[in-house]
Amino acid sequence: MTPEQNRNTMDCDAISEAFLSLHAQDGFSRLPPSSLLHDSVPMSFVMSAGLIQVENDLEKIVEQTGGKFAFTQPCFRHFDMKQVGTDPTRLSLFHMSAAFHIGCSERETVLPRLWHFLTDVLGLEKERLWVTYLDDGEFGRDEASYRCWRELGVDTSRLVGLDQEHCFWRQRSTGQIASDGKKCGPHTEVFYERPEVVCAACENREKAPGTCRCGRFVEISNSLFIENYIGDDGKLIPAETVFAECVLGLERVEMVLRELPSVYHAHRFSTWQEQLSDIGVTSAGYTTQKDIHTIFDHLYAFLKLTADGAPAPGKGGRKYIMRKLAREAMERTEDNHWDTLKFLALVASDQPTALEHLLEEYQRFIKNRRTQTQQKSNKQHRMVKTI
Ligand SMILES: [Zn+2]
Repeated sequence: MTPEQNRNTMDCDAISEAFLSLHAQDGFSRLPPSSLLHDSVPMSFVMSAGLIQVENDLEKIVEQTGGKFAFTQPCFRHFDMKQVGTDPTRLSLFHMSAAFHIGCSERETVLPRLWHFLTDVLGLEKERLWVTYLDDGEFGRDEASYRCWRELGVDTSRLVGLDQEHCFWRQRSTGQIASDGKKCGPHTEVFYERPEVVCAACENREKAPGTCRCGRFVEISNSLFIENYIGDDGKLIPAETVFAECVLGLERVEMVLRELPSVYHAHRFSTWQEQLSDIGVTSAGYTTQKDIHTIFDHLYAFLKLTADGAPAPGKGGRKYIMRKLAREAMERTEDNHWDTLKFLALVASDQPTALEHLLEEYQRFIKNRRTQTQQKSNKQHRMVKTI
């Protein structure tokens, strides 16, 4: 297919396939994704396409793959649930393609391939792509990345140096396996600019890509170069094993490629969008886009997590997260007078376990809601009497 045809048709799966195939041509072994219920995060779910899932078996994987491997991972961040719908790009459950090269952190092995993928394979316009790199008072400037981007033809006006808050990664020890939590290194991000989004701060370049929530700049890729550890005194110590990681946010790439208004219009939500009219929701209706996006996001995450073996909603840890996803979606469908039962039956039609969990939770949710409404009305009644 030509890049122009790609633009109109490629969804997350197709973009993932293209990314992994390109890496396979360059000698990267393809690994399967991890389950979202991984031992490394016992109280929650896998949160990124990071090293955490492979770290346990890293020696074996490096031996088998020569240190070059790629995979596409579903990721779920419960702490991002609040952000869903606040801009066009935030999902609690999303997909990332990632390519690792253990033992090598040379920019030339990562950035030219990424640039070729974005501009030639996907056909994204070069003049819409912006790049950030580390330029920091403490850790210095990532000259290697800067030079490499310049050699690829990125104009200096779209090559933005940012400080460690934006372009320096430190490993957080988030699980049992994530060893010492001290790996660190510069990263360089690629943003796609959507000029149709009107935002004075971004247009006047008062705000750098990635620092404004308007959605004009969409972060689509990040490349990380681990070369150091942070010592106890905060100083950088050269790492024995360096590595490079390049990740791609699939829903966001689909959004910019197909010129969709948001990630909530990605192909995986299209049947739900179509079904809205069946439950009486019209585009001119009462429900806000933010509510629709939150309902879609949370229910999709619920289905995907259940399919991976997540427990039914309940108290504590993973059960609590499942409850939060279900109830926050149901609160919105009820507040907006949707036919919640009908909608749940539609979205979970091919997932009997998830449907069962949702329907059970819906009964508890409605019971609670009725009690709360009753208590509220009694209180108001008492207040009226007092007056
Ligand atoms: Zn803006």
